[in-house]
Amino acid sequence: MSLVEAPILILKEGTQRAHGKDARLNNIMAARAIAEAVRTALGPRGRDKMLVDTIGDIVITNDGKTILDEMEVQHPAAKLMVQVAKAQDKEVGDGTTTAVIIAGELLKHGEKLLNQKIHPTIVISGYKRAAKKALEVLEKIAEQIDPKDTKTLLNIAKTSMNSKIIGLNKEHISKIAVDAALQVAEEKDGKLRVDIDLVQVVKKAGGAIEDSQFVKGIIIDKEVVHPDMPKRVENAKIALVNAALEIEKTEFNAEIRITRPEEIALFRQKEEEMLQSMVEKVAGTGANVLFCQKGIDDRAQHYLAKKGILAVRRVKKSDMEKLSKATGAKIVNNIEEISSNDLGFAKLVEERKVANDKMVFVEDCKDPKAVSVLLRGGTERIVDEAERAFHDAICVLRDAIEDKTIVAGGGAVESEVAKEIREFAKTIAGKEQLAVNAFAEAIESIPRTLAENAGLDPIEILTELRKVHQKGVTNKWYGIDLYDGKVKDMYAENVIEPLRIKKQAIESAVEAAVMILRIDDVIIAKKTPTKPPQTPGEGSSEY
Ligand code: ADP
Ligand code: MG
Repeated sequence: MSLVEAPILILKEGTQRAHGKDARLNNIMAARAIAEAVRTALGPRGRDKMLVDTIGDIVITNDGKTILDEMEVQHPAAKLMVQVAKAQDKEVGDGTTTAVIIAGELLKHGEKLLNQKIHPTIVISGYKRAAKKALEVLEKIAEQIDPKDTKTLLNIAKTSMNSKIIGLNKEHISKIAVDAALQVAEEKDGKLRVDIDLVQVVKKAGGAIEDSQFVKGIIIDKEVVHPDMPKRVENAKIALVNAALEIEKTEFNAEIRITRPEEIALFRQKEEEMLQSMVEKVAGTGANVLFCQKGIDDRAQHYLAKKGILAVRRVKKSDMEKLSKATGAKIVNNIEEISSNDLGFAKLVEERKVANDKMVFVEDCKDPKAVSVLLRGGTERIVDEAERAFHDAICVLRDAIEDKTIVAGGGAVESEVAKEIREFAKTIAGKEQLAVNAFAEAIESIPRTLAENAGLDPIEILTELRKVHQKGVTNKWYGIDLYDGKVKDMYAENVIEPLRIKKQAIESAVEAAVMILRIDDVIIAKKTPTKPPQTPGEGSSEY
């Protein structure tokens, strides 16, 4: 007895520890709080959130990932949920709210099962089996598309934008996204690949969203370097140079002894000649446009202007690479070696005023492999939201073009999957069946939440959805028209989404839920204060 009385300390003083059920329930609570925070943002009728950061900056959005990004989450399990959103965004670019909601629901039902004395390992294995089945069902019911059919692609982009603040302008932005995605799509090993990094997004507040445009080429956010240079060059022959058109500083620093005044003049003349010869080199190739990654000396600018060459200096490395992909020009590192073979082409290079800034548009390239999109909008905040919407749109287009498989939204696909999972549950013996059924419930939370957010009666809608889906696979795309509250074939309504989004949402949600359910011991090290604690007991007040 006496042995037990003296506690054995294996952890440092100040370490917090929660065990078994306590640890689990506490984690579940925190993770569910995260899901709860984004739940009302789901779908076209979801509400917006105003997020105010520590310095008072405001973000208004209903983008799940942005909401979670801006929230400074402390609890470790809550952080896992934020990672779900991040993983979803990184992998597929849309469906973040969906993934987080499903994870939250899996945990909610998981908690109920644990309270019924079902062991976590049974819940976990039930969830995993159900998830595997769900992915099979998704594959089976998905529809094939022609990845170059712009009408379908437009509908996919529009569906992703329905739930955005700038949804009213979805037509215009969707069209831009489709043009951009198709332009950079490249066939590799018989498969289309879309690298969204090849779509450069340039934001400029001012004007209307309708002023946003697709540029079949690249926009450089810089001005033409010299006032005497042309501001517009048609049939541009473009040189890309990654070397300074300057006299190297190191040459200056070398000790030069000048004893007579004429020598100064001679020295300057020598410099001029060097600069002039650099310009001659560029001009000699027939180039009439020069993008330089480094500086261009004032005198070199003057000579370039005299030759009628439009030049831009200090262009970002990433922009140089895009210019190369768009125009076919080769980036030259040594001016001495430049030749006409290195030049690229564009129908038009022009400096234009956008809002209060001048930018250079390199347009109408022949089959460019990198393109630009200029996003406009009344205020900085609208442009930022337009960027988020555009990001989702271009991602869903990539997913659809690459995989060529889509499903119907509006809760249709989730209703069908839930139905199949319930059927599947019947084949499973023991308590695991409860977990599989709980999984179906969790998936069904998507149509339920969509209905709730639209002010519809979720019970009524779910009952109807289940009834319609029961009738057979021909009704697989029945979902909710959130505007008139009717249950309809959402595929026919053109509410369509890439299969990849839905698969990934289930995968990330299950992964997070399983991870949280598995934890039965939380050990939190005492915080080493980096600055003096403001409140006594800091570190224990987090949750
Ligand atoms: P996520 O971050 O998960 O993408 P969203 O807020 O973008 O969340 O909402 C996506 C959901 O909205 C999807 O389930 C999608 O099917 C649904 N949705 C989009 N447009 C419509 C529509 N016109 N009618 C019904 N549901 C829609
Ligand atoms: Mg979305």
